[in-house]
Formats: sequence, C-alpha cells, structure tokens
Amino acid sequence: MENETKKIDTVVIHGGYDSKEHKGSLTPPLYQTSTFTFETAEQGERRFAGNEEGFIYSRLGNPTVKALETRIALIEGGEAGLAFGSGMAAVSAVLLSLTKTGDHILCSKGLYGCTFGLLQLIKEKYNITHHYSGMETEAATEELIRPETKAIYVETPINPTMSLIDLEMVVNVAKKYNIPVIVDNTFCSPYLQQPIKLGCDIVIHSATKYIGGHGDVIAGLVVGKQHFINELAMTTRKDVGGIISPIDAWLLLRGLKTLPVRMDRHCYNAKRIAELLEQHESIDGIFYPGDSKNPQYHIMKKQMSQAGGLISFTIKGTKENAQSVINELKLIKIAVSLGDAETLIQHPATMTHAVVPEDQRQQMGITDNMLRLSVGLEAWEDIWMDLKQALDILAK
Ligand SMILES: *Cc1c(COP(=O)(O)O)cnc(C)c1O
Repeated sequence: MENETKKIDTVVIHGGYDSKEHKGSLTPPLYQTSTFTFETAEQGERRFAGNEEGFIYSRLGNPTVKALETRIALIEGGEAGLAFGSGMAAVSAVLLSLTKTGDHILCSKGLYGCTFGLLQLIKEKYNITHHYSGMETEAATEELIRPETKAIYVETPINPTMSLIDLEMVVNVAKKYNIPVIVDNTFCSPYLQQPIKLGCDIVIHSATKYIGGHGDVIAGLVVGKQHFINELAMTTRKDVGGIISPIDAWLLLRGLKTLPVRMDRHCYNAKRIAELLEQHESIDGIFYPGDSKNPQYHIMKKQMSQAGGLISFTIKGTKENAQSVINELKLIKIAVSLGDAETLIQHPATMTHAVVPEDQRQQMGITDNMLRLSVGLEAWEDIWMDLKQALDILAK
C-alpha cells in the first residue's frame, strides 16, 4: 500500500488521499450530500448490484467519510476502516455483528460506562452473556473462555482505573481458541498504541476524544480485516444506521493531522502533572501508567510508545471532599469526555460510571474519592497551579 513505509506522523496528513482525484483540493473536500445521482437507470442497477464502483446514498458510503476510513486503516495498520456516528455506535455494531443469542463475550474488568450498559442490555434482551476478567495471566484469561465465547473485548488503559491489559498475552490465548480480540483504543489513540500490529483483530475508537481532539465532534471508528469491515458496513451500519455525517468526518480528517503533535504535548504535560500530584499531601493514590513504580509499568513500556494524557487519582477523604476539590478549580473544567485541548476533570463514581452498580464499581476499583483528569494542551504550570490551589484547600 502507498503509505506502508511512511511514519504515522506523515500518514495522518497524507494517508489515503490523492488531491489529483479532487480537482487539486489540498484538503479532502466535504461532500455534504445525502444521495448521489445516477446517469442512467442501468448505472443505478449496476451500483446496487455491486457491479460498478461508486456511491449510492450516504448511509452506505460517502467520499469524505471514505477518505477518513481509508486514512484510519492506514494509521492503525489494518486492512480497512469504518466510521460511525459515535463511539457507542461503533461498539454496538461490532458486538452485534459478532454475536447471536446464546453467545458469550469475555471482557476486561473495567469498561467505559455505556459499554457496560450495552453488555447488560444485550444480556437481558438477547441472552448474549459476558464475564469480566482481570486478565492478569494467561491462565486467568483462559479460565473464563467457554465454547460459546465469540469475542474478547478489552480496554487498555482501562477507564478510569488506568490499569493495563497485556495485549500480547491476550492474543496468545485468543489464538488458541480462534476468538477475535477487540480493543477499544480510545485512551491511547493510534499514536501511542497499535493493537492490530500486536496481533489483535479489531480496533475501536471513540473518535470524539483524541482523534477529533477539539471537543466539537461525536464519532466512532472501527478498523479490521476487509471482509469483516465489508460485513459491518453492509449489515449493522447500513441497517441499524449509526452513520457519521460528512462534516464530522471532515472535522476528524482535520483533527487527525495534528494528532501526533497534540499527543506529544498531552503526554508531556501529564507526566509533569503526575509527578507533582504524587507529592501532594492531599493525594492518597495515583493511577498513571507512566509512573515507574506502577506494577504494570513494564506492560506500558512493551505496548505503548508513551504513557498517555490521562491520570486518575484518589484524594484523602470522602466523596464530598472529592467533589469539593473539583468545585474549587478555575481553569480546569468539570466535564466528562477527554482528549480535548482543555484540561477536563470528572468524578467517575457519580458521572461516567454512575450506571455501574456500587458493588461492581468497588470491584473495578472505582472508589468514591477517585477523580479522573484529562490533561489538556495548556501550559502544564497553569494546570498545576489550578490543581494545587484546590488540593491545598483540602489539606488545610
Ligand atoms: C467516550 C468513550 C466511548 C464512547 O464513545 P462516544 O463517542 O461518546 O459514543 C467508548 N469507549 C471509551 C473508552 C470512551 O472513552
């Protein structure tokens, strides 16, 4: 493929787009159209029959969306990509296409709150069951695999506890049983971690986060083998209909161009903030994969190029103390989502993971005094000054 030998920093800018095919337009044009005209009835027939390349209707495909899909596949090192109207549209399309009633999904212990909700829904409505596993070792992962296990679904780092799953180990187990491994790669973005290159089968992104990067789009992406992506496009995406709009695809193409530059800054800032947080007297514990004292530091070194821009931490005190800390912040905004230019903070127990029942939340390690920080692109000194003044109040 044309971009195979180029570095990711180049592929995010040029991958899968040839300006010669678009009247010389430097940036991929925005095809803001619902449908495409056929020159003749026979051409329409050929397009529907799949005997002629070309677009039909934007729920089936759109040139701006296609440019994004081609680019993300090249970036992740996969065969093909598919875009969706949200990360959850991508997650649900993938899980529904891989499973039927009676099947089973093995999941990492700790998932995005709505993925947790979706698994609950498909269990109750369609008897598609699941188990959560810490996946600490091959034996621990293998233990919960059953004949009806049709997918292994993991997040790493896990939201919001930031614990890691050793992808190489999970792939080893999955290969023995011929089960596809799906990775929600949202927290890393392809700049920090490329699961397909580590042997995983399918990558999912909430492109709302680092890929968009500017807090103005909700979207999802999937990368996998060509035959799987074709099936996904022609079944769950076409018929359930969770498509992305052309303008959102266009915004993601723009966001992608600066992904490596932004990620370097997110990672740099987070490292500084993590080091400072750790020393503050109001902090009880810190959950950051880049901490060399973190018992999973070697996994981070093995599969991620940098530790990422997210830090979770627990404060000394109660839920009310955690809430009062974030109420004191001035520069840092209280909001869910992550990966934006703005530094964002949230309280997982009452926000992103409020849907998870209390006992399961405890099992996942999401305590009431935990906060999750998405370190933005501001000067780290300013981010720290804001955090410090809020934490100092608690220490008094
Ligand atoms: C935000 C998020 C999702 C869901 O994505 P949306 O774009 O909000 O639908 C899924 N997984 C992870 C890890 C996320 O952070």
